[in-house]
Amino acid sequence: MHELSLTQSIIEAVVEKTGGAEVTVVRLRIGRLSGVVVDSIRFCFDVVAAGTPVAGARLDIEEPSGRGRCRDCATEFAADDPIVLCPGCGSADVTVLAGRELTIISVEVRRTCAPPVAAPTTRRP
Ligand SMILES: [Zn+2]
Repeated sequence: MHELSLTQSIIEAVVEKTGGAEVTVVRLRIGRLSGVVVDSIRFCFDVVAAGTPVAGARLDIEEPSGRGRCRDCATEFAADDPIVLCPGCGSADVTVLAGRELTIISVEVRRTCAPPVAAPTTRRP
């Protein structure tokens, strides 16, 4: 997995969604079986974000565990390693049920201090 280009596409997607507003927090979910090196994402994030509205944003990354099911003996098991082997029979013929997620969960932007448009006007008697 190329973490640099991955980070670039994440930041591009964030900037596109937020329309250039200053981003303060980016939350990602990167499954443990995705093969993505989270430390590399963290490192690339600051480099790629420099000069964009995402610069200086905090990066929160969830790393959910994976699950697999063996196609040979039907054992279901938790898997935290990108190389998934069945703990029952050692088979590598495994269906990955979860753990390959790679999603942007949420993004927070800094709100500008503008008065609310629908503010009620004060009536004077
Ligand atoms: Zn098995």
